[in-house]
Amino acid sequence: MKKHNFSAGPSILPQSVFEKASEAVLNFENSGLSVLEISHRSKEFLNVIEKARALALQTAGLDDSYEVLFLHGGASTQFLSVPYNLLEKKAVYIDTGTWANKAIKEAQLFGKVEIINSSKSNGYKHIPKDIHVPADADYLHITTNNTIYGTQFHHIPNTEIPLVADMSSDIFSRELDYSKFSLIYAGSQKNLGASGSTMVIVKRDILGRVSRKIPSILDYQNQIKHESMFNTPTTFSVYVNLLVLQWIQEQGGIKAIENRNKHKAKLLYDEIDRNPLVEGYAAKEDRSLMNVSFFLKDASMQEKFDTLWKNANISGLKGHRNLGGYRASIYNAMPIQSIQVLVDVLKEFEKKS
Ligand SMILES: *Cc1c(COP(=O)(O)O)cnc(C)c1O
Repeated sequence: MKKHNFSAGPSILPQSVFEKASEAVLNFENSGLSVLEISHRSKEFLNVIEKARALALQTAGLDDSYEVLFLHGGASTQFLSVPYNLLEKKAVYIDTGTWANKAIKEAQLFGKVEIINSSKSNGYKHIPKDIHVPADADYLHITTNNTIYGTQFHHIPNTEIPLVADMSSDIFSRELDYSKFSLIYAGSQKNLGASGSTMVIVKRDILGRVSRKIPSILDYQNQIKHESMFNTPTTFSVYVNLLVLQWIQEQGGIKAIENRNKHKAKLLYDEIDRNPLVEGYAAKEDRSLMNVSFFLKDASMQEKFDTLWKNANISGLKGHRNLGGYRASIYNAMPIQSIQVLVDVLKEFEKKS
């Protein structure tokens, strides 16, 4: 029996995506070839990446002033590609946790970085409000969803300067005005597919403004020119990206996905708030719809709780090592039935204690 997978990433994908991807491994669209062996220059693969690009723009509701790239190296490489390509005088960052910090650390290698807001002092339980963005910076960087602490920006800051976002753990999980952003990046392995490719959506007009020389592989303009094929792309992962983007359309698009995500998150948060044995980590108004971090009030009951959820065929519920406790990652593909199983476990835990 398939497990209820609450893992933070790589994570659950829609069952239909697993099925289509496995068919394509054996015979890609009746070509007599596996998707693993087709050339990235073949018309079959060009068709895949072109469709994925177009669907990503369509899903975000963006026009062709934006480019979509499928690159290597995960979101972590974007931590340095962004300042490499955009940081001339000064960049500003909002510090909302571990991933934001890693992005800041890389940017500091390239120039002046100002952290204009941080929620570090209260353990990253909230998203900073009252954000004042200096007009003289090259860009503002935010992490829209904080995978470890379980917080999420529910209001995207207004900026005059280009807004850059790490959306690795909430890309296409909700309706947003994506045109507020000049650059969006996301590793695939949370909400967008199999680990491997990293999607970058970038507005062309913010590029070409820095004076430094940029290594070809990290240069967005070069990658645009080569249509993400400066070197061999992560072909299989891009194919899974396409399947996931098609699945989003089949679900009724991003609005339908968002409604379902809200419903799912409410089911779980309501139980966490009701159940006297557990408590949520993040401040209520900033709670993530994607990653739900919580603790047992009495840590000595851990073994009992762990046995219950493991027996219920749940996997991947352990919290991140930086935070401890528990974390339920409930990305787009997580069915509500699995969340109900976890809610039932929490109720049983209360009853048996
Ligand atoms: C997982 C994660 C990353 C790291 O992604 P990699 O693809 O492993 O480099 C970066 N940012 C956020 C918000 C994440 O959740």
